[in-house]
Amino acid sequence: MSQVKAARWTNTNRKITITSSTDASPSIEQSQVLIAPTWAGICGTDISEYQQGPRISKPSVVIGREFSAVVREVHPSVNTLKLGSRIVSNPIVGCGACHMCAADRPNLSLRQSIVGYDIEGGMISSLVVCAKRCYEIADSLPLDIAALVEPLSVAWHGVEQSGWKKGQAACVIGTGPIGVTTVACLKARGVDRIAVVGRPKERNETVKRLGVESVIESSTEDVSSKVKELFDG
Ligand SMILES: [Zn+2]
Repeated sequence: MSQVKAARWTNTNRKITITSSTDASPSIEQSQVLIAPTWAGICGTDISEYQQGPRISKPSVVIGREFSAVVREVHPSVNTLKLGSRIVSNPIVGCGACHMCAADRPNLSLRQSIVGYDIEGGMISSLVVCAKRCYEIADSLPLDIAALVEPLSVAWHGVEQSGWKKGQAACVIGTGPIGVTTVACLKARGVDRIAVVGRPKERNETVKRLGVESVIESSTEDVSSKVKELFDG
């Protein structure tokens, strides 16, 4: 018997409620592990769901799409994780039946579910998940930082898809969390000529602290001419 605490959407009044329940037997099945989430992030969609929704969240679902966790129990069929493994988790769950899932592309599943909106998220003390969706992290990576791996992976994928080649400059539009993490990914890949277009001023200052000198304030500067000037046309 264990007490399970969770942050759940309340159907009325746009509230999030902390619930506590007694879970007699958190049984894990084939290919699953039991995890204890440690840190969870709050993303922009979470905030808009809170302020204007819920629009996509299922009633009473546990929130928290991006989180880190420690493995507490492992099904004998799982050999990729062990007791105590520190992990992050892919928040997209494929339906397992469509042609995209058959091609091992659950991110494009025709009937996918999203953790924290459709199914239980990471703001819970104990959760059963499929081991295949878990990625073990290095011991040197703090668990609070690891909770940011999901948005960071979005930025990293964007940089990979951009077609950037060594020696080229890069221009990032936007200084929200994904814009900022994109800058971090570009710098990690050795890009030294980066221009960033964004607002408001406070966010632009954050980007400057990452070592980007060319930050264009989109609400007050002529973005087009400024970008041409920086990149020699
Ligand atoms: Zn599918």
